[in-house]
Amino acid sequence: MNFDEQRMLMVTRQIQARGVHDRRVLDTMARIPRHLFVSESRLSSAYGDFPLPIGEGQTISQPYMVATMTESLGLSGNERVLEIGTGSGYQAAVLSELAQEVITIERVESLGNAARKRLAELGYGNVEVIVGDGTLGWPDGAPYQGVMVTAGAPSAPTPLLQQLDVGGRLVVPVGERHTQILEIHTRQEKDKYKVHRETACRFVNLIGKHGWS
Ligand code: SAH
Repeated sequence: MNFDEQRMLMVTRQIQARGVHDRRVLDTMARIPRHLFVSESRLSSAYGDFPLPIGEGQTISQPYMVATMTESLGLSGNERVLEIGTGSGYQAAVLSELAQEVITIERVESLGNAARKRLAELGYGNVEVIVGDGTLGWPDGAPYQGVMVTAGAPSAPTPLLQQLDVGGRLVVPVGERHTQILEIHTRQEKDKYKVHRETACRFVNLIGKHGWS
């Protein structure tokens, strides 16, 4: 099977079949060449139903996880979105096609630099990659209509909640070091947040001032 066929099956069997229905998310993931975000030795597994190592002990998330987290932000195309945990840059590429502008922060410099280069080469002009501690957020770009954390946190980092626009959503895996629950925080009013807890999940640790030590 070629990559296009594998990608179509990924969308129908792994993502749609599990209940992700947002057409824009499905179409975007059917288009983005995920195999260009994994190392050459992993090419044949690029569309598998699991996370994959991307070096430095980190992973690119399972396709279904990318889809359901993206869907939960409810993007319509005009948003400025902040992602914490750039990793390979794949999730940032998905967000960049669904929002106006994406700022993504990576703690590991080598991963951040590689993702910046990859995203530029693939023509994702509306993504800015920053190397640093994403648990602090990025006040210069605030407020954000969507914030996504792609690493597991002990709790939703306060700066990220503060940098959320009214009406905006923060999706973050929260729990223990080895297992988390996906939380979706909505800023309903300036001082009023609502939280929904969804699927159990397993992410690498969010390390930083408002994460794990
Ligand atoms: N979204 C990525 C996968 C992320 S894996 C993708 O699509 O490929 C989680 C990433 O979060 C790792 O690269 C890890 O280095 C990074 N990370 C962990 N703590 C962080 C922090 N405080 N700030 C920014 N990035 C962090």
